[in-house]
Amino acid sequence: MTYEVKSLNEECGLFGVWGHTDASRVTYFGLHALQHRGQEGAGIVANDSGKLNGHRGLGLLSEVFRDDRDIDRLTGNAAIGHVRYATSGNGSIDNIQPFHFKFYDGDFALAHNGNLTNNRTLRKELEQNGAIFHSNSDTEVLMHLIRRSHHPEFCGKVKEALNTVKGGFAYLLMTEDCMIAALDPNGFRPLAIGQMQNGAYVVSSETCAFESLGATFVRDIQPGEIIILNDNGYTIHRYTEDTVLQICSMEFVYFARPDSNIAGVNVHKARKEMGRRLAIENPIEADIVVGVPNSSLSAASGYAEKSGLPYEMGIVKNQYVQRTFIQPTQELREQGVRMKLSAVRSVVEGKRIVLVDDSIVRGTTSRRIVSLLKEAGAKEVHVVISSPPLKYPCFYGIDIQSRRELIAANHSVEEIRQIIGADSLYFLTEEGLINSIGLETTAPYGGLCMAYFNGDYPTPLYDYEEHFQKTMEEHTDFFEVCKAVPQKN
Ligand code: AMP
Repeated sequence: MTYEVKSLNEECGLFGVWGHTDASRVTYFGLHALQHRGQEGAGIVANDSGKLNGHRGLGLLSEVFRDDRDIDRLTGNAAIGHVRYATSGNGSIDNIQPFHFKFYDGDFALAHNGNLTNNRTLRKELEQNGAIFHSNSDTEVLMHLIRRSHHPEFCGKVKEALNTVKGGFAYLLMTEDCMIAALDPNGFRPLAIGQMQNGAYVVSSETCAFESLGATFVRDIQPGEIIILNDNGYTIHRYTEDTVLQICSMEFVYFARPDSNIAGVNVHKARKEMGRRLAIENPIEADIVVGVPNSSLSAASGYAEKSGLPYEMGIVKNQYVQRTFIQPTQELREQGVRMKLSAVRSVVEGKRIVLVDDSIVRGTTSRRIVSLLKEAGAKEVHVVISSPPLKYPCFYGIDIQSRRELIAANHSVEEIRQIIGADSLYFLTEEGLINSIGLETTAPYGGLCMAYFNGDYPTPLYDYEEHFQKTMEEHTDFFEVCKAVPQKN
């Protein structure tokens, strides 16, 4: 039996700068700090006194921009850039952003992080009315909507377009004379403004990029806002008042870098608190606490601190194995995980281990790591997960669109424990997750989107509604899948 699993995708990263003589180089370094958000492709479009020039390609930033000449060619005082991991559209060069559109009355560049839930309907309508698309990504839709708007002013056109698209979106747009940043009405994706020492404004998906550029944080872009940046600074506008904060909780659990702050909360601190709460919710008799590098180390340190157990480096990650997630089959992916992580035998041998990981999606990683630890002599492996069971797909920018892919959608906690071979298995509760992040808001679920865990989607699903109903009926027998995957090391 072969079982094809679609690769799990992270999200995209956006970065832009206005008012810096070396804008494309600043953007390169900004994107470098956001590389964890997408490794499939990258691009930069720079603005030289109204003339837009771009360079984009498949792969890591360092593969796309191979030497200084690739950056030097992109002259100008403003630029926007993108690192991509496909959530909509396939992985061809056509879908690599920023998109650069050339109109009779000026150029326009556009980059997007998120996923539109009414893309198919809008695209069909637009095509029926003569629009031509160059990619199959959902990003181009916004540009067509802006161009078709009858509003007399550019900002009005953008507002109209933003009120038409639905779902999760953070956009960065650049025209000849301004840069525009906009966020969806739920603020699913983070987006913040910073300022460099020379006064130039920067916009980034995550604040970690500000740190690496010596920029200071100015403010988070709020749901429903449009920020216009130009030579006079920036102005704040709104395209809707109908907003409810629902930041993607997986940003805090897994996606974002620990040195980023989202809505005023540091990601490392939130993860550490998840670990502390896990220790309170699930005390375990054990000898050491081990985190799965890298995303679970903060939570593991929290668990160790609260439980009083020593924190040990029981697993090492090979930092040079870049993209194990691009491997297409379960069997190859298993080999990828093995290439990536090794157990430190002298640390784990004979020990009862609390193994902390951030999430279980298909269960492949946990199963692999438990067996790595046991083969290295661990006496017991108790797995604690710093998020609740992932049971529902995401339609706002994470590429988990089928319940078939999610082990917790198909099995009880006890069944998952058996599948991954752990001695015990615990997940953080929804309440524990919400309280660990602790956003200052009165919005439902503490201002977080918890749909992956409870199926309560903050918006209608539009084009995905039928797909969602179908996926709710799907069931995959993971016991069968596991039997089919060779367990050798
Ligand atoms: P799995 O092996 O499928 O259970 O994947 C679980 C691991 O993937 C976790 O340890 C996370 O670190 C990581 N992860 C969680 N969500 C995602 C995602 N959407 N894309 C890529 N990796 C993820």
